[in-house]
Amino acid sequence: MNAIAPRPIGLFDMHAQQAQIRDKLRARMDAVLESGRFINGPEVVELEERLAAFAGCGHAVGVSSGTDALQIAMMAEGIGRGDAVFLPAFTYTATAEVPLVLGATPVFVDVDPISFDLDLADLQRRIALVEAEGRLRPRAIVGVDLFGRPADWPALEAIAAQRGMFLLDDAAQAFGGDIGGKRLGCWGDAAALSFYPTKTLGCYGDGGALLTQDPERAALYRSLRTHGEGQGRYEVLRTGMNGRLDTLQAAILLCKMDLFAEELLARARVAGWYHAALAGLVTVPEPVPGHAWGLYTITLPDADARARAQAALKAAHIPFGVYYPKPLHHQPAYASAHAEALRDAPPLPVAEALCHQVMSLPMHPYLSEGDVMRVAAALKAGL
Ligand SMILES: *Cc1c(COP(=O)(O)O)cnc(C)c1O
Repeated sequence: MNAIAPRPIGLFDMHAQQAQIRDKLRARMDAVLESGRFINGPEVVELEERLAAFAGCGHAVGVSSGTDALQIAMMAEGIGRGDAVFLPAFTYTATAEVPLVLGATPVFVDVDPISFDLDLADLQRRIALVEAEGRLRPRAIVGVDLFGRPADWPALEAIAAQRGMFLLDDAAQAFGGDIGGKRLGCWGDAAALSFYPTKTLGCYGDGGALLTQDPERAALYRSLRTHGEGQGRYEVLRTGMNGRLDTLQAAILLCKMDLFAEELLARARVAGWYHAALAGLVTVPEPVPGHAWGLYTITLPDADARARAQAALKAAHIPFGVYYPKPLHHQPAYASAHAEALRDAPPLPVAEALCHQVMSLPMHPYLSEGDVMRVAAALKAGL
């Protein structure tokens, strides 16, 4: 009983970061309490300017969650009944939920086994199939920067431009990521961010934002997040929603923005330590530049190998996650939409296989090299 328990390792970090900015957080939150401007306070505008400057995209619009960001972006395009929205079968549920809520049809696309992002050949094949069937209009592509790795945006832009399709970046897991120095938010027509607490930039509740280079879209997003309001508060121009970002959450995010650039570097360092310890033993994510490292997800050969790896981590009291255990086309809520989208839908073998192979290791900016070595040692015992 006299052994000293090792420092617990978190899958995400909820405390180390807070300790660094606690005084600032209290001061910022107190200022909101005193102003009483809990909705549309000046902190929301300040945050939007800060986000747009960081991404270099011109416009940021704070909204109530990443899911609402996706919804507002699609509402602004008038996406609905008869529209096909192409998105990966291997992603978080919200990506598929939003087109269905709007009456549109999600068309699930297989993913690349290395990047986990949209498989471009499969995307083009499914767009051609929808066109050939002629029942749905190929309307939008939603690329997801899964686990923080930017999707192939130059290629996606070319595909969308060729067909006049709306191109949305679900960057919920990847804020801070870039391709060749051009940050997410500047790719496609718009990008949706989530500030769910475990994302690369997280608040203390729900929050999100839309980033875009297009001032007209930004204006539409502002209107839609406030019930479709026009110039005056009681002029309603279009059907919108209550999708605003709280002032308190904006104040919290402003404090966290002070750390954000450093935290991105720290995440990349952690990924480098994992790579050095695990490459060659197990399939590790490619250390591409511009990866935001929202999650560090390894790929095991099969379900049994993953179960052994999980048991080894459990025995060492090291947390892990499985994102995602089921492809979206197998979810009870989406199976019928999948069946209706295409009469002879090709299979989605990579998405299906990955659900049995992936696991995500602890990843946050406050992991030490020693922490990573402990995770790696525990994992190796199960390989
Ligand atoms: C987290 C997440 C969302 C949804 O964000 P919320 O803020 O939880 O609504 C959407 N897409 C992806 C890929 C996500 O990881």
